[in-house]
Amino acid sequence: MSGTVIVGGGPAGAAAAIALARAGRPPLLLERDSMPAEKVCGEFLAEDAARLLRSLDLDLAALGAVPITRALFAAGRRQAEMPLPFAAWGLPRATLDAALLEAARNAGAEVRLGTAVRGAERAGEGWRVRLVSGERLDCVNLVLATGKHELRGQPRAARGGSLGLKLPLLGEAPEAAVTLLLCGGGYAGLQPRPGGGANLCAALDPAAPGVAEAGRSSRSFLAHVARGSALAERLLAALRPEAERPMAVAGVPYGFLHRGGGPFRIGDQAAVIPSFCGDGVAMALGSGLHAAAALVSAVPSVSHHAAWRRQVRGEMRMARVLALLASAAPRLLIAALAAAPGIAGWAALRTRLGAGVGDPHGPSL
Ligand SMILES: Cc1cc2nc3c(=O)[nH]c(=O)nc-3n(C[C@H](O)[C@H](O)[C@H](O)COP(=O)(O)OP(=O)(O)OC[C@H]3O[C@@H](n4cnc5c(N)ncnc54)[C@H](O)[C@@H]3O)c2cc1C
Repeated sequence: MSGTVIVGGGPAGAAAAIALARAGRPPLLLERDSMPAEKVCGEFLAEDAARLLRSLDLDLAALGAVPITRALFAAGRRQAEMPLPFAAWGLPRATLDAALLEAARNAGAEVRLGTAVRGAERAGEGWRVRLVSGERLDCVNLVLATGKHELRGQPRAARGGSLGLKLPLLGEAPEAAVTLLLCGGGYAGLQPRPGGGANLCAALDPAAPGVAEAGRSSRSFLAHVARGSALAERLLAALRPEAERPMAVAGVPYGFLHRGGGPFRIGDQAAVIPSFCGDGVAMALGSGLHAAAALVSAVPSVSHHAAWRRQVRGEMRMARVLALLASAAPRLLIAALAAAPGIAGWAALRTRLGAGVGDPHGPSL
């Protein structure tokens, strides 16, 4: 019987694995991909993610991340720019996830790549984990870190959701900027990647006109975003897709916050903050550290989930307001940003995780 099994090796699972191993409770981490892969993600990481990564001895600049210092916004013919009120970076997810999994291994966690879990259920006082290979593993504690993917037998109580699309591009995006391009059914973020090229990533309402088509080919995706603003049309005309189709993930339940007990849920299994309005990766890292501290102190999962909800509900609320404004009243949002960048900076700061979050010695549990 294992102590703790973590299912999923994204930022949440890896952060929990590092913290548990460092606390003398090395877990077994199961990740279905055989090597860290790209994920549907805007790759925007702010100071809160950087601080949590530093606590795990990972430095974004040393990993080659591109500094991002300003934000551009565009809808129709309108455009606004503001300096970011916090430090930020861009880093491909394959690079970040690989560094985190290596750190987990170095800390003493057992990391099994290429190991897909089919399902999990209660077995006595503990849990039984069933692998796709047919193997069964019994453990005392189960941590669900499967991100956007539901594990059979343990689905999230989340409904509906957005379509996430991601497309790496060749060419140049505006330097040191995250560019938020409002378009039909939602918005897309464009930012430079280390070593050249750019990442275009969108969160869209799957029922909005043109969105289903946008998910089918890179050309349609670029055309859909370009129709949203004059700036998008100009920027995207100079960029070429690296793939024929964008990566896609359906049913992203923005605003979801897990309630109740069951297995320990972390990352997107615990809470899903609207993309570009808040850092999903920082939330994943913070919740992984939070769950590790709970496991070490024998705090039950129901208390961990309740404490995590209290920690992040202010950030979640502000991110939801900003995302709603971006999709329902984009021109109003741009006008407000241009007229009062100070207020925009204040709102953006309120979507970032506070300094005590994820600190195992902090007052979070
Ligand atoms: C459109 C969009 C844009 C975004 N942009 C940003 C951004 O710019 N910045 C930001 O900070 N966040 C962003 N996010 C959010 C961010 O991607 C997530 O919040 C973050 O990846 C959550 O981390 P996680 O570890 O919970 O899950 P993931 O990163 O999804 O990792 C889950 C892991 O579990 C594995 N897994 C799943 N099922 C199984 C199984 N059955 N067996 C074994 N392994 C399994 C997967 O292979 C994966 O490696 C964005 C999200 C979307 C949808």
